[in-house]
Amino acid sequence: MNVSGKTRICGIIGYPIDHTLSPTIHNAAFKELDLDFIYVAFKVEKDCLRETMEGMRALGIHGLNVTIPHKERVMPFLDEISPEAKIIGSVNTILNQSNSLIGYNTDGIGAIRALEDNEVELNQKKVILLGAGGAAKSIAFHLSQKAKEIVILNRTLDRGKKLAESLRSKFYVDVSWGQLSKEAISNHLKKADILINATSVGMNPKLDETLLDPNWLSPEVCVFDMVYGPVETKLIRDAKKIGAKTIDGIDMLIYQGAMAFNIWTGKVPPIKRMKEAIMQKIIELTNK
Ligand code: NAP
Repeated sequence: MNVSGKTRICGIIGYPIDHTLSPTIHNAAFKELDLDFIYVAFKVEKDCLRETMEGMRALGIHGLNVTIPHKERVMPFLDEISPEAKIIGSVNTILNQSNSLIGYNTDGIGAIRALEDNEVELNQKKVILLGAGGAAKSIAFHLSQKAKEIVILNRTLDRGKKLAESLRSKFYVDVSWGQLSKEAISNHLKKADILINATSVGMNPKLDETLLDPNWLSPEVCVFDMVYGPVETKLIRDAKKIGAKTIDGIDMLIYQGAMAFNIWTGKVPPIKRMKEAIMQKIIELTNK
């Protein structure tokens, strides 16, 4: 990597941030296309967002990804927000365009691309969405334009209700909500086509945590787990065991990153190279 006085800086802000895989994806892509860009991770605490955004302008940082816990809180500090990010209510990508900070959300489209890339048909399907946080909101916005029915089950009932009502007011999709419970999941699964875990259940270090009893799964229901650390969650392992189609969180991570890459560089992202780089990194981390 040849860093010069003209090198453009991109990065990610979040807390914690030590385990992010985004620098691997983006630096591999910049190198592949021979772009004079570099991507770094910044650990930013909750109450430092104003200073961070001022710093982005002052230092001329070209682009930032935004992750937990800043995706919603960063919005008041931006000059412009894309219509999609406004509806979703969170930003995961910022472009510094001539000192004007523009916020986007690429999580939802990244998730849809991950499903489509794995040949999962969404049109006219019944989807069970576990969770109503940032990741759930971003995919729900896109699903509402394709699926026939969406059932949102969330631990905090009010949050699920708010998401469902917001979708109902904007789209023609049949949306319902309910308390995330064993009974609700097993009942709805009987008539579902796709199950999406958009909660953080199953994430490192709680590797054996899952919201589902393996007996409720069936080969007819496709399982998409947005969690990408670990790549194979307990839910994905259980679904694989019974022969269901499974999609882990890695493809979504790559596609949301690819969209951000396109926003910052205007170039077609080298998806294949991004995937190779991340898989290589995961192997390295697993063997450590
Ligand atoms: P978030 O906004 O904090 O939302 C977390 C969600 O998980 C909420 O619905 C929360 O329910 C639920 N939850 C947390 N602990 C739970 C538990 N013990 N039992 C039941 N529900 C629980 O986080 P987020 O940004 O949506 O992220 C959610 C997951 O998606 C994370 O694992 C994240 O890494 C992953 N993600 C992946 C990608 C990717 O590219 N693959 C991108 C974005 C996010 P309450 O509302 O009740 O708190």
